[in-house]
Order: sequence, then C-alpha cells, then structure tokens
Amino acid sequence: MSEPSGNRTFGDSIEIRTEGLGPAGKDGVRSAPRDATRRVHVGKVPIGGGAPVVVQSMTTTMTWDVPATLEQIRRLEEAGCEIVRVAVPDEKSADALPEIVKGSPLPVVADIHFTWKLGLKAIAAGVHKVRINPGNIGGESRVQEIVAAAKDKGIPIRVGANAGSLPKEIIAKYGVHDPLGIVEAALIPIGILEKAGFEDIVVSMKASDVGLAVASYRLASRRIPYPLHIGITEAGSTRRGSIKSAVGLGMLLEEGIGDTMRVSLTADPVEEIETAFMILSAVGLRQRGPEVISCPSCGRCDIDLIGLATTVENRVKALGTKIPLKVAVMGCEVNGPGEARDADVGIAGGLHEGLIFKNGEILRKVKENRVVDELMIEVEKVLRDKEADAARREGGA
Ligand code: SF4
Repeated sequence: MSEPSGNRTFGDSIEIRTEGLGPAGKDGVRSAPRDATRRVHVGKVPIGGGAPVVVQSMTTTMTWDVPATLEQIRRLEEAGCEIVRVAVPDEKSADALPEIVKGSPLPVVADIHFTWKLGLKAIAAGVHKVRINPGNIGGESRVQEIVAAAKDKGIPIRVGANAGSLPKEIIAKYGVHDPLGIVEAALIPIGILEKAGFEDIVVSMKASDVGLAVASYRLASRRIPYPLHIGITEAGSTRRGSIKSAVGLGMLLEEGIGDTMRVSLTADPVEEIETAFMILSAVGLRQRGPEVISCPSCGRCDIDLIGLATTVENRVKALGTKIPLKVAVMGCEVNGPGEARDADVGIAGGLHEGLIFKNGEILRKVKENRVVDELMIEVEKVLRDKEADAARREGGA
C-alpha cells in the first residue's frame, strides 16, 4: 500500500459525504452506512437502503449448458442464495439467457465484459441486473446504449473497480495498492452512468488483499451513496478463502458497511453461501437455519467430542430447516450448560452419559448411546414451537 503523503490518513483527501447518512439517533449514534444507501431492486430482492444484507453467488457451469446451470442455481437457492450471477462471455451463453431467466428461482445477473452487444442481449433476455465494466465495453456511447436498455427494463447495473485492473492514469497517480486509487477508479464508471441519468447502481471495490479491500470499502461508504457489493476477490480455496472473507467482510459488516455480499471461493459455489451465512450469523446480522456451537474440549472431557459435534452438525443440517436455532455440544457438565446458556438446546458430555439441557437448564441425564437421539428430540420440539410462534405472528400481522 503506498504511503499517504505528509500527515494525511486515508480518507482525509476524500470528500466525506455525511448528508446521505442517516440521522443521529437518541444516543447520538449515526445509523449504519447501509441504512443510507440508495435502494435498488434485483428482481424482487431489495439491495441497500437498510435492507438485510443480500447473499449472492456465481455459477461455475458453462452458461450455455442450460440444464447444468439451472441445476446449480437450484442448489444455490436451496442453500440460501438470493441472487445468482452468470458469466456471459459469448453469443452462445447470451442465447441461453431467456431459458435460464425463465427457469431460475433466483434473480439472474449477467456478467458482461468487452462486448456491449452481449449486455444488450442479456437485458433483452430479461436478466434482473447486469454487471459491466464501462472501461472495457467499448466507449461511452456503448455504455449509454446499455444504460438506456437497463433504464427501459428498470434493472440496476453493477460497476466498480478491481485492484487488479486499475486504469493507467489511476496507477500513475496512486500506484496499485492505494484505496484512494481504487475508490477514484470506481468513481469513473459511476460518473459515466450518472451522466447518462442513471442511478440504479450497485458498486463493488474488489481486491484480494484484505486490508486494501476493507480500506477501499470504508472510503467508498463515505463517498458513494449507492449500495455496496462487498467481497474479497480471489480469496482462495474453501478454508483460506473463508477465513480471508470472514476477516474482511466481518470488519465491514460490523461497521454497517455492505448491502450485498459474495464470498468468492475456489470451490462449489454452494460453499460460498454457507460461508456467507456463517459470517452474517457471526456478526449478528442474519441467521439461516441452525447454528451448532461446541466447546474446544479439554482434560475434563470424557467423550469423543469431535465425533459428537460432527454427528450433531450433520443431523441438524439434514433437517433442512431455515429456522434459526442454536444447538450446543459441550464436553462436560462442569461448565457446559452454564457456558452455553444462550443455546436453545444442548448436550454436555459425561462419563458414559450426557446431560440434555435447554436454555441453560438441565432437562435430563441420558446414556451415552442415546445422547444424540435425545438431543434431536428436543431440537425438533424447539423447531415446532418456533414454527408455531412464527405462524401466530404471521396470523396476527
Ligand atoms: Fe473443557 Fe468442559 Fe469447557 Fe468443554 S465445556 S472446554 S470439556 S471445561
């Protein structure tokens, strides 16, 4: 990262836009940046303006292979994905879009580079958003054609900057590792769209360096009124990529930055969705389905805790519920139920036996070979109660 000149710190030379941010509340705390972004809709899914952070992913199939692409989209939807992006690198892929849009349970975003005609074709096919790079699409008049088509269909456009492909003039001014440069690069396509009278914009600020990405999004959140698509690009395979994404996106989300997110993993895209929801759950923003918490085990533990936690994780996942629920798997009864007091239900291991507890209260002691089954009986009871509560709330609404 290039050194800021003099005493300047990042952000000093950027106009700090505060008028768009929400009013300070009673305690003087300003609302989160995401509350103040302009809201756009991708199909029926709202992004920005305080809407819940939207989870998205991208297919890895050949887009022209419609059955394979739709099959992957369905798997993504089942995992909780809310918007799906497909690459449109050629005519063959663009030709497949009408069928994909028709068969997809999720709003579809077309990812377009280099060929503006593919953008026009995608919009005509009914996609719900396009992602373009105005810098490689063939000049301002081409961008304006895409903007006119998007306006006509009422769909948003995503633009942004990528640390790996900054314009020459930006590199000359800032080098390649300066968040000021990345934000300034993103302002170029935004300016082109605004000049064409278009404001249904989503903006991304991609960098594979976590610090650079975070600093860039922080600056962008102060300067740009449009919803931010956050992500750590080229994050890597499942483990490394999930950790990098959790660190970077976790920081941003905690600061109220980010309206939609993609966890980029070199893996089955379904894993991106699972990681995204784990991150959202960890920062307390969204939870989808049960979360299993477990202690690290120690010398007090008399059971195979790793095996037990894995079995519980699999059994709970197999329920396929979207209802938030916290299940604890603790190694001993000394600290277990107390430490996991905020779990809905849990087990604490003992010698040849286990305790079943609920909201920190012990329900009963069971034999070791019954521990998981007894826990699942309680899990299903809690789920039924939560479902009934939700139905009552809906009925009363
Ligand atoms: Fe150790 Fe018990 Fe705490 Fe697990 S719950 S870490 S076994 S003391």
